[in-house]
This record gives sequence, structure tokens and C-alpha cells, in this order.
Amino acid sequence: MSDAIFSYHDDVLHAENVALPALAERFGTPLYVYSKAALTNAYRAYAKACEGRNAVVHYAAKANSNLAVLGVFAKLGAGFDIVSAGELARVIAAGGDPKRAVFSGVGKQAHEMRFALEKDVFCFNVESRPELDRLNEVAAQAGKRARVSLRVNPNVDAKTHPYISTGLRGNKFGVAYEEAFDAYRAAAAMPNLEVIGIDCHIGSQITEISPYLDATDKILDLVEKLEAAGISLHHIDVGGGLGITYTDETPPDITAFATTLLDHIAKRGHGHRQVMFEPGRSLVGNAGVLLTRVEFLKHGETKNFAIVDAAMNDLARPAMYEAYHEIDPVERRAADAVTYDVVGPVCESGDWLGRDRALAIAPGDLLAIRSAGAYGFAMSSNYNTRARAAEVMVDGNEAYLVRERETVESLFAGERLLPDNA
Ligand SMILES: *Cc1c(COP(=O)(O)O)cnc(C)c1O
Repeated sequence: MSDAIFSYHDDVLHAENVALPALAERFGTPLYVYSKAALTNAYRAYAKACEGRNAVVHYAAKANSNLAVLGVFAKLGAGFDIVSAGELARVIAAGGDPKRAVFSGVGKQAHEMRFALEKDVFCFNVESRPELDRLNEVAAQAGKRARVSLRVNPNVDAKTHPYISTGLRGNKFGVAYEEAFDAYRAAAAMPNLEVIGIDCHIGSQITEISPYLDATDKILDLVEKLEAAGISLHHIDVGGGLGITYTDETPPDITAFATTLLDHIAKRGHGHRQVMFEPGRSLVGNAGVLLTRVEFLKHGETKNFAIVDAAMNDLARPAMYEAYHEIDPVERRAADAVTYDVVGPVCESGDWLGRDRALAIAPGDLLAIRSAGAYGFAMSSNYNTRARAAEVMVDGNEAYLVRERETVESLFAGERLLPDNA
């Protein structure tokens, strides 16, 4: 872990200038802690590559859709990539500009399209022929023309986990490369659609640049073929997916990555078109930690367990993708480390957060699960009727509660018993 923003001072882990034990004391655990400086630095790394070019950054809100996180990016000037009407509502509530949002996703419902048209989103990233038909119809009913881009599946291997690889044939995403030309012709003939762009998104946690270059080349081939057929595209959206360092991965530096792609597009003669980046994980992943407290240490014959108060419902990635997150004691102790599986209280063997970790810890100690800013809280659930964690954002010396811990009563407030006579 290389980020200096979450670092030790006198053997106590801090977020910026705030000691994490103080936050655990004040807000309880499990607790998500984000750093505003880390969010800002990551955004600026993209913005630096875009400076002086026709290129923009749309934060993929699904990675972490807390209003305060969206608000930070809105203030920095980001656009947004959204995948539901709910996310659009969040972006608006956070002060984001819906006119700078692109609407992705394979299953947009008519009511979501209507809402997005009402808010005048910049573009619908359409993923299938039937979606084109539906959007054309909804736009006609609203008396509008919807701006569209087609998400094309370039059939390249992003070399990442199969669950987060999206650009291969056989994925549910996008229009097949071979069918894209015809789909564009169909879209261009629809009276209530305005074809303006093309997009792809080949996967997530990608740590090499070559799959992006391959995908971009295929997209540009198609752009040229479309241009020759009289369909001229205003923008090329290269998607998100850039990986981060969880442990020993070495993804390209953000600015270098974005610059390389922009240069590549310009070199191929498409520098006049707007380029969009849609990063999620690389903007927020290393800007957050999940704080959890050790409840019990259980020493067994073959394994030792550190049972903590966070669980798979708080951070699903280990259970879901066997994802690795570094786990560090918040206060370093001078004691010998013991190897533990760090597990939560949920009644599932899949409820683990880290395996075979050497830790010098005692019951009551705090642990920081690193790199938890992306797909952490956003994927959390109430499984086992566990109230979801609170979220805090640190800015320099200040810490702000940006989501209250849920109450147990709120979890079943919408439920009803059957009537007595049933
Ligand atoms: C999820 C998603 C992103 C962001 O992906 P990251 O891997 O978090 O950068 C961008 N675009 C689309 C269409 C997505 O579905």
C-alpha cells in the first residue's frame, strides 16, 4: 500500500490528520472512513491528462454513491456515469449536473428513461437493439430526441476476474461488435434518437494498458466505417475499469494511462472527437478504509480466527470475488504476530474478510481493511438483519459523518405482520 494519506504516526493509523481510534470512539464500528484529499488527488490525476484536450471524466457513481463523495466530484467538475434512475437522483441531490451524466446499463426501464429525459441527461449508453426501440418510443411520448451512444462489445480480454470482465463475447453487456454497424444504422433511422457517440467498458480492476489499446483500435475501426456510411460520432467513451493496488498489483499511473489512450486516439486521427473516461474504482478505491473491531480471537488446531464486527454484508468483495484487501492493526503492538483468518459474525462460511494474515492483535483492537472505498459500502446489505455501517469523510483535521449508522428498527419499518384473522 503506497498511499500516504492513510499512514501511521507514532504507531497509530491516521486518515489525513485524524487518528482512526478517535473516529471509532466517536462513530462506532464497523465504520467506513473516506479521505477527501485522496478522492481529490485521484480526480486531479485524470484531469491533468485531460487538460488542454477535448476530454472529460465521468465518475461511475456505482463504485461509491454516497452523496458526500458525489458532491466532492461534482465540485471538482466531474460528469457522472449512472446505471439507474436512483443514481441519477443521487447525483442531482449531491449537486451534480444531470446534463453531464451518461446513462449506462443493460436493463433501463421506461420510467427510468422518462426521468433521465426529463433531466436532460447528456447521453444514453444503449446496450441492445430492443433498448433502442424502447428509448425511441419513450422519447417520442415525451416529445424529445434522446442522444444515444451504443455500447459496443469489442471482444477483448481484459485479463481480470471473470465476474468483472465485461468486454468478451458471451458477456451480457453491449452490442456484439459484428452487429454494431447495423445497430447504428437502425438507430440513425429512428426519428426520436440522435446518434452522438460510441462507448465500451471492457471490465474492472484492469492492470494493463494493452486491452484498452486493443479495444480502442476496434472501436476506432468502427467509427471510421460509420463515418464512411454518413454516421458521424461526436464522442468516444472508453469506459472505466482501471485497476488499483490492493496488495502487489502494479496498474499504470492514472495520468500516464489516460495520456497514453488520448495520444493513441489522436495519433489515429480522431483527436477532434471528445474522449470520455468513466472511472469508478480508480477514483475511490484507495480513498477509503473499513474500520472494524476485534470481538474474539479463536485459536484452533488447524486455524486461528479473528472474529471482527464487520462482515460480508459490510464488505462483500472477499466473499464474492475472493478479493484481497490488506488488513492492518490500527495501533501497532510490540508482540509476535499470529496467523489468523479474519472473519465476520454472519452465519456463512463465506463470511471472511482476509485469510492467513499475520497480525499482532488482542480482543478489542481495531483493524483497518484497506482499499475499501470502491464497491464497499455500495455493495453492502442487511443480511442477518445487520444495520449497515456509518460513513465518515475526513478533510484535513476534520471528520464529517456523511451517513448515519442504520438503526435496526429502520430495517423492518416497511414490513407488515399478517392480520390477526389470517
Ligand atoms: C462499472 C462501470 C464503470 C466503472 O468501472 P470501474 O472498474 O469501477 O472503473 C464504468 N462504466 C460502466 C459502464 C460501468 O458499468
